[in-house]
Amino acid sequence: MSMNTTATDTATAAPAWYELALCAQTGPGFFFPEPGSSLRDAKRLCGACEGRKACLDYALTNDERFGVWGGLSESERQALRRRP
Ligand code: SF4
Repeated sequence: MSMNTTATDTATAAPAWYELALCAQTGPGFFFPEPGSSLRDAKRLCGACEGRKACLDYALTNDERFGVWGGLSESERQALRRRP
């Protein structure tokens, strides 16, 4: 995923873990692929990201519905939410 921020508000708007985010160096299209296309590359990047756990926690807390967060797709996060 990618934060929708401008250069001027990044420091205040982005969560602290975003400094660790590998995806900050990629374009947003990487984490919001066309429907039906592979998420494999995005997930691989997440697998090497130090901010992964915080990123996933953030996505679950904020009920992010679209794109790959913390290495999980929308449906995988949804399945995680349903767990007791
Ligand atoms: S875990 Fe993935 S989506 Fe989250 S910050 Fe890291 S690279 Fe980006």
